Amino acid sequence: MNRRGFLQWGCAHCALLYAAAGRAQAGADAGSQWSIPPRFAAPDAASDEGGLWATMAREEQRVRRSPFLIRDVKLHDYLQAILCRLAGSHCPDVRVYPVRSPHFNANMAPNGMMQVWSGLLLRMDNEAQLAAVIGHEVGHFLQRHALERLRDAKSKSAAGVVLAPFGLVGLVGQLALIASVYSYSRDQEREADTISVRLMSAAGYDSSQASVVWGNLLAEVMAGPNADASKSSVLFATHPASEERRDVLRSLGKAEGEKAEQAYRERMADWQLPFLEDELKRGQYAETIELLGRKLAAEPARGDFLYARAEARRLRGQEKDLEQAHADLAAAAALANAPAQTHRSLGLILRSRADKAGAAASFRRYLEAAPDAPDAGMIRTYISELET
Ligand SMILES: [Zn+2]
Repeated sequence: MNRRGFLQWGCAHCALLYAAAGRAQAGADAGSQWSIPPRFAAPDAASDEGGLWATMAREEQRVRRSPFLIRDVKLHDYLQAILCRLAGSHCPDVRVYPVRSPHFNANMAPNGMMQVWSGLLLRMDNEAQLAAVIGHEVGHFLQRHALERLRDAKSKSAAGVVLAPFGLVGLVGQLALIASVYSYSRDQEREADTISVRLMSAAGYDSSQASVVWGNLLAEVMAGPNADASKSSVLFATHPASEERRDVLRSLGKAEGEKAEQAYRERMADWQLPFLEDELKRGQYAETIELLGRKLAAEPARGDFLYARAEARRLRGQEKDLEQAHADLAAAAALANAPAQTHRSLGLILRSRADKAGAAASFRRYLEAAPDAPDAGMIRTYISELET
């Protein structure tokens, strides 16, 4: 992907911001003398900041009622504990909401409402990586970047750009609008990254993991088809991935402290398969295959990862995809932790190869593992067709 294409991919609204490269060091410099500010009082309702808070409070009510909110108390409490560990004295003022959406996104509203989307949770390898993203959002919150942006927009007689769209946005329906509301300047992004590393270190996390997050995302971007940037760009709805960002974070981070890999895996275990199914529905198979290649390099005996990579290939259906999907499914089927769907996918591939006995056996294994599956009736039909 060329440089221009890459920047557009990262953030549709960042083109102008990237032109301001001369001012770019300011954010990082500010970080070196930075210390955590005292808690803020709620702003006067009549002020511009009060108006911003009121808008976000209405949005927060919408999030609370949304069918996309993940209502898992343990997951919520885990995320809130990480947020509080990073936000320190500001803990009583910030609230996290896990949201079911397969895109890589997290954002923090100026009133302390934070969203973490499931596509982001799927992509993290450990708690320290998640802390890097949450710490970055806390950085935007502590520095009141949204207010700066509102005032900047007002000075350009365009305040409506910031406030008007948000009330119209459903939760996850209109990513482009969300991106426009939460798109910060390049200086603000650098400042939030710098603060994130400081908060991670203060909280005892391995801050070298911050650059790993962006390195991994870059690998996904590069694996995807560069022709359709408009479709791909929503993966990073609000935060552009760039080599520069990864490299700056690499220079700031220290490989000491806690990664909490096992704790993270255990907390996410119940959600892996649903998040993987959501990821497949995104239809960006090259990115999914890259993501799962990385996951499988760390944990080769994961039936769910093997199944999902096979599905990405089976659904993409390019040359050699079915062959490789078959190999992944056969490996998964031999594992005790394989999801039931592994056998259904294997059955479908064997059926397409006219291996009737093999296909019927795999479908039967699927029904044994998932007798109440919504497609059980259809699979029974397949079996009877294969056996006649
Ligand atoms: Zn940001």
